[in-house]
Amino acid sequence: MRYAILADIHANLTAFEAMLDDVERRGGVDRFWNLGDTVGYGPDPNECLDRLSKLEHVSVAGNHDLAAIGKISTIDFNPEAATAASWTGERLNAEARRYLATMPLVIENGDFTLVHGSPRDPVWEYLVNAERARANLGHFKTRYCLVGHSHQPMVFEADENDDIRLAAFSDDRRLELGEKRLIINPGGVGQPRDGDPRASYAIYDNQAKSITLHRVTYDIAAVQSRMTSLGLPRRLIARLSYGV
Ligand code: ZN
Repeated sequence: MRYAILADIHANLTAFEAMLDDVERRGGVDRFWNLGDTVGYGPDPNECLDRLSKLEHVSVAGNHDLAAIGKISTIDFNPEAATAASWTGERLNAEARRYLATMPLVIENGDFTLVHGSPRDPVWEYLVNAERARANLGHFKTRYCLVGHSHQPMVFEADENDDIRLAAFSDDRRLELGEKRLIINPGGVGQPRDGDPRASYAIYDNQAKSITLHRVTYDIAAVQSRMTSLGLPRRLIARLSYGV
């Protein structure tokens, strides 16, 4: 079986479609594992949820998904994120709202635990350094954990003493799955933040026991002009060009 691992679509349908086309070009997958923040920031929340619902998939909820349906407060969001969250909340149709409300915070699938932020705090924690990764090892039972939220592709590898090695997860890098516990972030589809504006996702092949990262170019200008005409915050529009 082959699985696409994706996170942080952030209501960017153009990036999402480009990613789905890339999956098809690479022979397709059997299932999609979505790590949350399907909405928030971008111009197409209903469209992204509708597209996702047509795929064979599972999905956890992210902080932006929960904020958009009023399940968490946006008091800790930066001003642009809070503006985008309330814009998203007003725009969501009933079906999209219902669908977001059903998404769990944690999914266990065989050797994998899927969360948005981290296993100990699926909604808020950013797993961006070895210290935090180590502190989370006791919070999931499976060998591997998949996270999103930081929008930065990276891999944390734990040795037998739970010491963590942090490695970048770069384009077309193939990660072999072995005995070691791993925490893996496939990067963000709709708003990458590692300085590379291309959409980011990964494909897991359970026969080959490997996960490979892929980056995909998409029409950023088209998304930016939709955001401009909808009056979304300027900083959110600009950052798509730089991948920050
Ligand atoms: Zn996000």
